[in-house]
Amino acid sequence: MILIDGKKTSLEVQDEIAEEVKYLQGKGKKTPHLAAVLVGSNGASITYVNAKVKACERVGFESSLVRLPDTISEEELLNKISKLNNDPEIDGFIVQLPLPDHINPKKVTQAISPNKDVDGFHPENIGKVALNLPSFLPATPYGILQLFERYNIETAGKHCVVVGRSNIVGAPISIMMGRNAYPGNSTVTLTHSRTNNLKELCQQADILIVALGKQEFITADYVKEDAVVIDVGITRINDKTKKKGYRLVGDVKFDEVAEKASFITPVPGGVGPMTIASLLKNTLLASKNKIKG
Ligand code: NDP
Repeated sequence: MILIDGKKTSLEVQDEIAEEVKYLQGKGKKTPHLAAVLVGSNGASITYVNAKVKACERVGFESSLVRLPDTISEEELLNKISKLNNDPEIDGFIVQLPLPDHINPKKVTQAISPNKDVDGFHPENIGKVALNLPSFLPATPYGILQLFERYNIETAGKHCVVVGRSNIVGAPISIMMGRNAYPGNSTVTLTHSRTNNLKELCQQADILIVALGKQEFITADYVKEDAVVIDVGITRINDKTKKKGYRLVGDVKFDEVAEKASFITPVPGGVGPMTIASLLKNTLLASKNKIKG
């Protein structure tokens, strides 16, 4: 079994980005600038946004953290987004999800300019992904593709089963794995909560990508011998023995599945850090597109 080290791979990607930033700066070009909008004070969201800002510093990007109260109205948030869309200093920005219940996340996603949509959630970008056209790739699926690439994992002709069909992970990765590309060219089965024979389907997977948000749901009996297992899930479990008071658990029961898998991502330290690396890659691309324009 080979452990796919997302933390190490993410740092390698970040080092490559840092080199490119230095090169751009040497040529007198603009330093890429990512803004992150955080509404409210959800603990997990604060942790994620802080990690993104820290990664920007690491690669030499400018970053701005826009903190807004959870009492902000939808209209005020949309106005803020419009300002970021029109701010020439900002190359790309994200609005951290989830949002408070009174704000419609679809409206927010669609309000972000597709040219600055470095999370890759805008329908225009998702549509381009489906048509295999150049675009910002959704950050988490893009992170998974980079892991396949950097670990030289063959995907062509493989049966890839995706568990979960969210707009940000399951649905886009299922499209990307079926595209005529590398990584891609897999035969894809997309499963969800209404799938009747989930276990049987998972047992047929050469590549199993799990994003349902249920801790340790996938046990060894779901997994074929030598399958590649990608665990996207992150659940916080209270744990008083940890300094932070919690620990992170994936959707896959790691210890028993690892014994069967040929490759497997851990949680933490698997897909999570790659999501950040992808965000930075998309921001660099956004900045370079502007330079070109
Ligand atoms: P969502 O809650 O949006 O979607 C969950 C999906 O899982 C839904 O499609 C749902 O089906 C499906 N599902 C739920 N229960 C079952 C079941 N018993 N059998 C089969 N399918 C089921 O989740 P996200 O995609 O946003 O996130 C999934 C997990 O990934 C979470 O733990 C999240 O924290 C983590 N995550 C990690 C990221 C990273 O960077 N590592 C980034 C984003 C998310 P249905 O559509 O029918 O309801």
